[in-house]
Amino acid sequence: MQLSIIIPVYNEEESLPLLHQAIHDTLEPLPETTWEMILVDDGSHDGSLPVLEKLAQQDPQHTRVVALRRNFGQTAAIAAGIDHSCGEIIILIDADMQNDPADIPMMLEKIEQGFDVVSGWRIDRQDTFLTRTVPSRIANWLISTVTGVHLHDYGCTLKAYRREVITGFRLYGEMHRFIPAYANSVGARIVEVPVRHHPRRFGKTKYGLTRTIKVVLDLFTVKFLLSYANKPIYLFGGTGIFLILLSFLTLLFLMIRRLWVGIPVTTSPFFQMSSMFLILGFQSILMGLIAEMLVRTYHESQSKPTYTIRKVINPIKGANGESAAAREYTDE
Ligand code: UDP
Ligand code: MG
Repeated sequence: MQLSIIIPVYNEEESLPLLHQAIHDTLEPLPETTWEMILVDDGSHDGSLPVLEKLAQQDPQHTRVVALRRNFGQTAAIAAGIDHSCGEIIILIDADMQNDPADIPMMLEKIEQGFDVVSGWRIDRQDTFLTRTVPSRIANWLISTVTGVHLHDYGCTLKAYRREVITGFRLYGEMHRFIPAYANSVGARIVEVPVRHHPRRFGKTKYGLTRTIKVVLDLFTVKFLLSYANKPIYLFGGTGIFLILLSFLTLLFLMIRRLWVGIPVTTSPFFQMSSMFLILGFQSILMGLIAEMLVRTYHESQSKPTYTIRKVINPIKGANGESAAAREYTDE
């Protein structure tokens, strides 16, 4: 097995040597495993980068350091780490030692059992209750309900992925937490495992309540992309048809009222609302059509298939399963 451990680092100088040692201690004894850790310095302004440079020098076989030019945020740091890794299994973990590297072997066992995503769940979370744990519970419930992928702890960084289920997904904003939902959309098998969680020993957390708001906003994007990225007309067109119906119903109400009670149609504010619904309805359908064209540009310009394959048995000669499928798609 080839593992890549991806670690985003922002001002964590004290914990880095401990973390490095802990990962070594955990992974060294594993049989038939080659591994690397990619530490991404996310523009730290304490001594993190020099510490990382030293670790990379001492341990060139296992340690790779990627230093970003400024602070881009945890998600971007994780994306950079994944881009600079080559393992078939990718494990994300925080640099602050709140996650415990000792949980990694147990997660690898789950991968070996055939799961594509192993999601850590901080059952006994060691963060401030009111400002961290409670908002996180609400966010987890919301994300689970909206995406249909029910996990207790989207926010826990410690998760393991098979590389093939997360490539093809660009990470924006705070979106690393939505990787399991994306993986589910390409057919990944997901399992949740309880993991340990420790209080922060050094430095302080980089986040507060505002992150929850960002996460909720990201959820809109993710839901749209997961459910409608291939068929945007269903969303826009559906809204459009609803608005046009609403417009006709309002008009009908006004006409019946005119006939029975004698109140004139055109002077009522409902009349203006009805025309507005009609215009918005048509606009929405037209926007849906534009979105449909964008989707086609996206898929056809990059020869991206509209499906994902687990495996092909007896594939076309000379090509592996995936490229054969790609060829069939572009030939079409
Ligand atoms: N982090 C990062 N860039 C940032 C903020 C955080 O790379 O802009 C890293 C940080 O060093 C840590 C992880 O992301 O390894 C999680 O951050 P933190 O521990 O502050 O979050 P919490 O555990 O409190 O949710
Ligand atoms: Mg932390």
